[in-house]
Amino acid sequence: LASRLRGFGTTVFAEMSALAVATGSINLGQGFPDYPGPPEVLDVARAAIGTGADQYPPGPGIPELRAAVAEHRQRFTGQAYDPDTEVLVTAGATEALAAAMLALLEPGDEVVLFEPIYDSYSASVAMAGGVVRPVPLHPPAASSPTSPAAPWTFDEAELRAAVTPRTRLLLVNSPHNPTGTVLTDDELAVLAELATTRDLTVITDEVYEHLVFDGARHRSLATLPGMRERTLVVSSAGKTFNVTGWKIGWVCGPAPLVTAVRTAKQFLTYVNGGPLQPAVAAGLGLPDAWFAGIARDLQRRRDVLVSGLRDAGLPVIAPRATYFATVDVRGVQPDGDGLAFCRALPERVGVVAVPTVVFYTPEHAALGRHLVRFAFCKSDAVLGEAVERLRRLG
Ligand code: PMP
Ligand code: GLN
Repeated sequence: LASRLRGFGTTVFAEMSALAVATGSINLGQGFPDYPGPPEVLDVARAAIGTGADQYPPGPGIPELRAAVAEHRQRFTGQAYDPDTEVLVTAGATEALAAAMLALLEPGDEVVLFEPIYDSYSASVAMAGGVVRPVPLHPPAASSPTSPAAPWTFDEAELRAAVTPRTRLLLVNSPHNPTGTVLTDDELAVLAELATTRDLTVITDEVYEHLVFDGARHRSLATLPGMRERTLVVSSAGKTFNVTGWKIGWVCGPAPLVTAVRTAKQFLTYVNGGPLQPAVAAGLGLPDAWFAGIARDLQRRRDVLVSGLRDAGLPVIAPRATYFATVDVRGVQPDGDGLAFCRALPERVGVVAVPTVVFYTPEHAALGRHLVRFAFCKSDAVLGEAVERLRRLG
């Protein structure tokens, strides 16, 4: 293994999903729904197979999907992107992020990001020869059964200190995996001010853009003054349409940045997901009420898991978005080690979860040592059974 990839090993998601299969446990680890996507999307993919859609689509993605991405972005953020020059279809958000790093980083360039971080970020930066400069999101102090959902927050001084003359990119994921937090308008303003004064290029990962609860609102950093021209917006179909295995993602941004990403993408996968592209285009065109409906549906699942965990005596940091809730395991794991807790949990009660510590660099790992992430994008019966099993921990 090349030195730049040493230390990356197997992703925690693969490890934990394999553990779930091997032990017959309920898998609340890897974030994927156990219920299907909407027929308006699935039926289009079925119908497209066996037609010309099985062959290579155009390099930037089929025109229908690029137009749908632009329409959807215009509808939900008010921002116009030219589907021909400012939208690129990718193999999931993961490829979009990796291609962006490969396209934009010189060796030694620094990427400022918040941790805990989604695990592909560090590897993508490393593959591009870049260096990660992590800024911690601090967990809310109180996470007792009665506390409201306090936000995770960053310290502005810590953020500013992470930016150096070598900083090339600011990479922002909101709504955020694994914490389920949504950056506030004030936090976004701090980021926009920093990016414009330090002339940083920004990448936003908005894959959970529609999965926001309790009336909270996801606002794209690209919509703040001075940001559109320096920001690559990344999103994907996986979470919105319950098709995490399809790996249809996209990038929107100013033409020079999108062209740069496309230059890298064309030699990674060239194109992807021919018959899935028209299906995602159909999904993006669903009415506003449909998107509001998926958030309501997932909020209900969040409530089932969070109240079940609290009834079981586990302190939860309730999320305002995404697929994930965070539990403080110190009361049920005497050494407070979330990784050891997750490795033992299948044997103890037949449930799999993901230790939050794996989303931190060693520098800030202590912040997440006692935390564990549970996915709630599961059917009621599965969530109910998982909660029953977790009660046995007490
Ligand atoms: N970013 C975040 C924050 C994620 O949680 C995920 C995984 N689901 C991805 C990117 C990857 O998305 P995709 O499956 O579209 O590659
Ligand atoms: N994004 C999902 C998660 O955080 C899974 C991604 C993956 O398996 N690579 O659980």
